[in-house]
Amino acid sequence: MSDCLFCKIISGDIPSDKVYEDELCYAFKDIAPMAPVHILVIPKLHLTSVAEVNADNCSVVGHIFSVIPKIAKEQGIEEYRVVSNCGETAGQSVFHLHFHVLGGKTLGQFN
Ligand code: 5GP
Ligand code: ZN
Repeated sequence: MSDCLFCKIISGDIPSDKVYEDELCYAFKDIAPMAPVHILVIPKLHLTSVAEVNADNCSVVGHIFSVIPKIAKEQGIEEYRVVSNCGETAGQSVFHLHFHVLGGKTLGQFN
């Protein structure tokens, strides 16, 4: 999607601190980290949010969850939180599906 920030990060039009990439997904450091380790993992396929995940495209989500443990290990964290905000009132600000991987400290409860 031409006007999507994360599509531009995938294409390299906008620079990012990449930590992992394969044919289906891309992972990079969050520009405003909320924890010592804060990685965003995104599908290369543009999906707006979890709300657009369906039976036809959900394999990419399974794939992302298969790489998150590897990324976490590479980042030196054994325990972490995976979050995906779906919609503005849930805190979503970039409308390309992404999974936050947060760790490296004791994380507080959220609401
Ligand atoms: P959301 O608020 O949609 O759940 O998460 C979007 C995340 O993207 C935020 O944590 C924000 O800091 C991060 N972000 C926004 N713009 C950029 C950017 O240009 N580069 C990187 N690396 N992260 C970004
Ligand atoms: Zn996109």
